[in-house]
Amino acid sequence: MCGIFAYTGESRESGRLIVNGLRSLEYRGYDSWGVALKKNNGQIYLKKAVGKIGQAILPDTNSSIGFGHTRWATHGGVTEKNSHPHHDCQKKIFVVHNGIVENFAHIKNVLSKSGHHFISDTDTEIIAHLIEQKLKKQKSRSQAVLKTFNQITGMNALIVFFPDYEEFYAIKNGSPIVFGKNKKEKIIASDASAIIPYTKKVYFLEDNELLIVTGKEEKLIDKQNKNGTIRYLNLSYDKQDVEVGSYPNFMFKEISEQPKVLRDIINTQRGNLGKTSQIIRKARGSYLIGCGTAYYAAISGSYLFAKIAKRHIDATIGSEFGYLTDFLTEKSLVIALSQSGETIDTISGIKKAREKKAKIMAITNVLGSTLYRISDYRILLQAGPEKCVLATKSFTAKIAVLYLLSHCLNGSYDQGVNQIKKAIGETERLIKSTQIKELANRLKNSQHIYVLGRGVSYPTALESALKIKEVSYIHAEGFASGELKHGVIALIKKGTPVIVYNPTDETYKDTLSSAYEMKARGAYIIGIAEKNSPVFDEFIQVNDCQEAVIIPNVVVAQLLGYYLAVSKGYDPDKPRNLAKSVTVK
Ligand code: GLU
Repeated sequence: MCGIFAYTGESRESGRLIVNGLRSLEYRGYDSWGVALKKNNGQIYLKKAVGKIGQAILPDTNSSIGFGHTRWATHGGVTEKNSHPHHDCQKKIFVVHNGIVENFAHIKNVLSKSGHHFISDTDTEIIAHLIEQKLKKQKSRSQAVLKTFNQITGMNALIVFFPDYEEFYAIKNGSPIVFGKNKKEKIIASDASAIIPYTKKVYFLEDNELLIVTGKEEKLIDKQNKNGTIRYLNLSYDKQDVEVGSYPNFMFKEISEQPKVLRDIINTQRGNLGKTSQIIRKARGSYLIGCGTAYYAAISGSYLFAKIAKRHIDATIGSEFGYLTDFLTEKSLVIALSQSGETIDTISGIKKAREKKAKIMAITNVLGSTLYRISDYRILLQAGPEKCVLATKSFTAKIAVLYLLSHCLNGSYDQGVNQIKKAIGETERLIKSTQIKELANRLKNSQHIYVLGRGVSYPTALESALKIKEVSYIHAEGFASGELKHGVIALIKKGTPVIVYNPTDETYKDTLSSAYEMKARGAYIIGIAEKNSPVFDEFIQVNDCQEAVIIPNVVVAQLLGYYLAVSKGYDPDKPRNLAKSVTVK
């Protein structure tokens, strides 16, 4: 949620570059935006707008330094005056911010009594005024920013811009801030994908350290208030990886990239997965946690570890895990799944688990992310940037990793690889087929779609329903087939579309019976299976690849959701109200 982009460099078009930078962060989700620039004649240019950036072009400002923000409102309505950047009374201190200043009301009250005048309803604005207030007593801007940051509570990331000194101060204890520079320019952004057009060498700020950036130099003040060292990391992806290229949108691009992502996993992860599986073997009590799609990957993992590795690993929703940590010990292992590595609900759970001294294993797609850094063990999905708000390739990458970890524990890694190869073949065939597009055209006016599965296909049903509802806005629900007679069947009437996952495994016969029961009540059955059956009104063939069948089965739902959205004229990359990385509670 929210995007931050700051620029200083040789260009005289910082406005255009900042707007472009904000565009590359749009996928994170936002409802309004703004920019503050220092023009080369010394004046300040401030722009605030509600809605999307679209094709917005700033007037020719002749500026080489400034910053911008895409806001996902938490405190104060979606209005121009509430959009960031915010400033102090003198318009000398500008702030962009991600997060929630939990004690803002009290600080605002105190500052108002000292004569500060507030323009917006946001929590953010108090930051600029608090720095202004502190600078009345002390000269050091860095100490004023640090003291302000220490005084505010909550999980926050912010950049302070002092135009008179052409300085940026960046600090965080929540969502990420990344810094990168080349010979001509420096960027501070909330996401490395906005920096990649400039450089692949980046630095991810640690919590509570202060980064000071000017045209001439950059300085780090560490948590102990001492000079720190900027240790750069090399990003493993390129500019074209963050661009849509010849694809119609990011969702279809990322669905299409899955075969390559899965091949990369089987070709490069063997050693790391082998080592990591030993950590799981030694742990006394392991827990998989995640939110949304990552949670459904976690439930899938629970089945995979049970079936293949004969290990009991519970799956819990990230935001609930914090309430379940009382039984953790230093021997426990928490395996946290998060595409962005910034999901605040998962990270909050991890922080609670840390208090109990449990070990943390991250399965994430983002190098240098918060989850990546605070974990004891790490598996990088290396799926490349995922820019569509919907998780597609990161889900199947997580499934491949969990599946191979289970096989490592069972001593059958090569067997796992062979099944993933089959899953890749099925995925490629499904992406090319026109059948799912035609089905979407028939289903696009449905009000409800139900999805059923048993065993490993139960979390597949949950993930499939999520994919359909979040992008097509058609109400979709996933159920365990066995739950049908415990309530769900009341919802079935003539013509209700029901997707049935019916792979050739131990669930085959029972799931088929469920399909017949629904058919008897008028349901329109879409069977996703290896073998056709008279009960299916529509049959989508997915050939056997043992438990790795989760992968092509979910790809069917990704494609169905995608084509439903497109046929209804919706933007599949940015579904309404959703944000890519959920960095506020
Ligand atoms: N809490 C701030 C606001 O509502 C920042 C929100 C954001 O992260 O975009 O303005």
